[in-house]
Amino acid sequence: MNNSPAFNRCAKLAALFCVASLATALIGFAADKKEEKEPTVIDPGPPPSDAIVLFDGKDLSKWQSAKGAEAKWKLLGDGSMEVNGTGSIMTKEEFGDVQLHVEWATPKEVKGHGQERGNSGVYLQGRYEIQVLDSFENKTYFNGQAGAFYEHNAPLVNASRKPGEWQTYDIIYHPPKAGADGKPVPGSFTVLHNGVLIQDHIPVTGDATRAANFQGIAPKGSLVLQDHGNPVRYRNIWVRRL
Ligand code: MG
Repeated sequence: MNNSPAFNRCAKLAALFCVASLATALIGFAADKKEEKEPTVIDPGPPPSDAIVLFDGKDLSKWQSAKGAEAKWKLLGDGSMEVNGTGSIMTKEEFGDVQLHVEWATPKEVKGHGQERGNSGVYLQGRYEIQVLDSFENKTYFNGQAGAFYEHNAPLVNASRKPGEWQTYDIIYHPPKAGADGKPVPGSFTVLHNGVLIQDHIPVTGDATRAANFQGIAPKGSLVLQDHGNPVRYRNIWVRRL
């Protein structure tokens, strides 16, 4: 048997190499395992069992006024609430990456035209508005109609139902984030209006526009529903953190 110091050093190095290789293989195996993790089983609902219900018609306990006071929109007793001139409302909880479901209806009785007709809005992080408007046979500027990323991007199609009818938004939102170099990495909006794709992975850059002021990168913010002075109704609002 070779017991020379040089041979022993070689044997130790070989052993170390073996242990390191094994550890690397195990880490790689663990990483693969993570990717192959069995998806969590949920009840799809609606609402899905892993959603946070923000409004189910019973109360406004998840909401507050823009100034942090009690939210005072009118509960109609049929599972919905109505904008009543008491100001926009915002969630007490803050959200970042989300899937959001909102049902809304503009007044059945048509009054005004353009932006005066059934105007409200769903603001992600209190900043970026998906416009709520009665856009059924109601012309306005292209990036201000229902489903527009307000003043930023028009919807792909106008999938509006008639005034007074319930409509849905399903919104997948990712906020802009700070990149490793400190520069903003754009987030995105994907929106379905009444089940129809209207915003297809539109970048949310955080750039300043008149309606969506860039206020710095923030990981989270409240969801806001706009009081624009028109009696728009809302019901069945839930959100899933992504
Ligand atoms: Mg609006």
